[in-house]
Amino acid sequence: MYSIIKKNNQMMEWKNVNIVAYLYPHPLDEDYDTEQEMVSWIPGFVNEPTEDQDNPIYTDANLELYNKIELDVKEAFQKGLKSMWPLCKDIHMKQMNVMIDLVFISGKKKGIAGYRYGESDPMKGIYQFDMSPKLLVDYINNLKVKANIWEHELIHLLDHMEITRSSVYAECNSRTNNLRHFILKFREEGIADLYYLLKGNHPDIHSIEEAKEMFREKVKCAGLKCKEAVRSDETFRQELYSGYHFYEAGPWLILDALQKMGADMFDNLIVECLAAFKGGKEIAEDKILQVVKMALGHMDCRKFLSYAEEVMKEKVVTVENMGNGVSE
Ligand SMILES: [Zn+2]
Repeated sequence: MYSIIKKNNQMMEWKNVNIVAYLYPHPLDEDYDTEQEMVSWIPGFVNEPTEDQDNPIYTDANLELYNKIELDVKEAFQKGLKSMWPLCKDIHMKQMNVMIDLVFISGKKKGIAGYRYGESDPMKGIYQFDMSPKLLVDYINNLKVKANIWEHELIHLLDHMEITRSSVYAECNSRTNNLRHFILKFREEGIADLYYLLKGNHPDIHSIEEAKEMFREKVKCAGLKCKEAVRSDETFRQELYSGYHFYEAGPWLILDALQKMGADMFDNLIVECLAAFKGGKEIAEDKILQVVKMALGHMDCRKFLSYAEEVMKEKVVTVENMGNGVSE
């Protein structure tokens, strides 16, 4: 089972979890010397002084805007927590912090949100998340954002132990370990995006076979990159771990890996989900959560690495045909 500390048997409701969404840096925080450019890009920011306030950062209209943003983000996060509550309720949960990043501190130029495992403390029940300026702009402008963002991040939280394990490979200077982490990213994002996929969102991959094909191709490419690199440094690793293939192929690989584990109870449920998927039918919420729970409980890093090895062995991909995805 996923091994984050369970709380003692007192009942808790999702509504009672303390969620703190906060702008970072907060324009009113005296510790930071907020410049106008730091906040004037926020949609809705009124860039004009008022009669009693010459600095637009402190006008009533903008103070209201800051509060509204924090409240809206809190609500969006709470919605995700409500959906994931059947899985989260057994976890020790005291406080969820959501940093609304105004200055790209999370390094997310393209990304949207994240679970910061290194700053979370399951023993204390305190967890840290962030969201990017891009997501903030999309929220404020009511643009269509990727569905189930916070469900995805909460699944990462539930996967805390394995993510921490895999991070050891991520940050070291051994290229072999970096390649291991690359492979494990399919696991990590695959489990986190299962909910999204099973909710009927079809990204670019439509079957387990297609996903495996993509996986083999990407792993082979990453393997070559690792081989050719002079050494592993921060830039090399960042480049290696970027891309959307983890999200696209990952959930399918997890379904396949669980199926391959062969336990009947998994098999029936996954067969049922795949059939519903093919027929364009909706899968019941409790079934989706069961699959996610199954993945969290049974597909640890070690098992996924052996599964990955099997998938690589299934077809030999040669350097010549790597580019077009045809294998022999
Ligand atoms: Zn993720």
